[in-house]
Amino acid sequence: MRIDIITVLPELLESPLNYSIVKRAREKNLVEFNIINLRDYAKDKYKTVDDYAFGGGAGMVMMIEPVFKVIEKLKSEREYDEIIYTSPDGERFTQKMANRLSLINNIIILAGHYKGVDQRIRDHLITKEISIGDYVLSGGEIPAAVIVDAIVRLIPGALSDEQSALSDSFQDDLLAPPVYTRPAEFKGWKVPDVLLSGHSAEIDKWRHEQSIERTRRLRPDLETE
Ligand code: SAH
Repeated sequence: MRIDIITVLPELLESPLNYSIVKRAREKNLVEFNIINLRDYAKDKYKTVDDYAFGGGAGMVMMIEPVFKVIEKLKSEREYDEIIYTSPDGERFTQKMANRLSLINNIIILAGHYKGVDQRIRDHLITKEISIGDYVLSGGEIPAAVIVDAIVRLIPGALSDEQSALSDSFQDDLLAPPVYTRPAEFKGWKVPDVLLSGHSAEIDKWRHEQSIERTRRLRPDLETE
């Protein structure tokens, strides 16, 4: 998989893409990142990529020309399966969407800033708009990092134990069961007996029941059969 991220703040993406599972996936050549500084595509010497909004009002708007230039260049080099714009009014990002995106090859993510991007970018250049939740952030870099992290850990081989992605919350519309580690007792707080029993069928059953119970209690909106 190759992921190109277009941004005015490349520095913001450095650490999220350089640690933990994402870093390992990169080292295993499961994913390649290309961070593009949009200002490199500005046409004036001040590297301007934003301008005042037509019609007035507060806030600057990201201009279409530099974005068009980057996307045209990338598209001339390879085919892209999705060109994503991160936006609070986009489709809500979910584990299902992450699963689908983890199966495709080449993705461009455009991180917005300021008031957002010229609507013509969204109408003519973008194929998918994603929101990471109903709140407004200052820029699309953190949403891009969230999307990338969720996708990359699902690429086969990215996690050392693939089962562990399958047993995470949301994979089957259920929340994950609680987990414990040593010591078995701390200040009188005990780990459930069943987990110490060594009885794997019993443990599986308990975990499944816990998942169902937690989902009903904490997230009744998730579909349960
Ligand atoms: N004026 C816009 C918000 C702009 S916020 C509005 O009211 O909808 C600046 C940029 O941050 C956006 O262009 C977008 O790329 C990013 N952003 C902010 N919140 C986001 C969210 N919840 N999900 C995805 N991207 C978001």
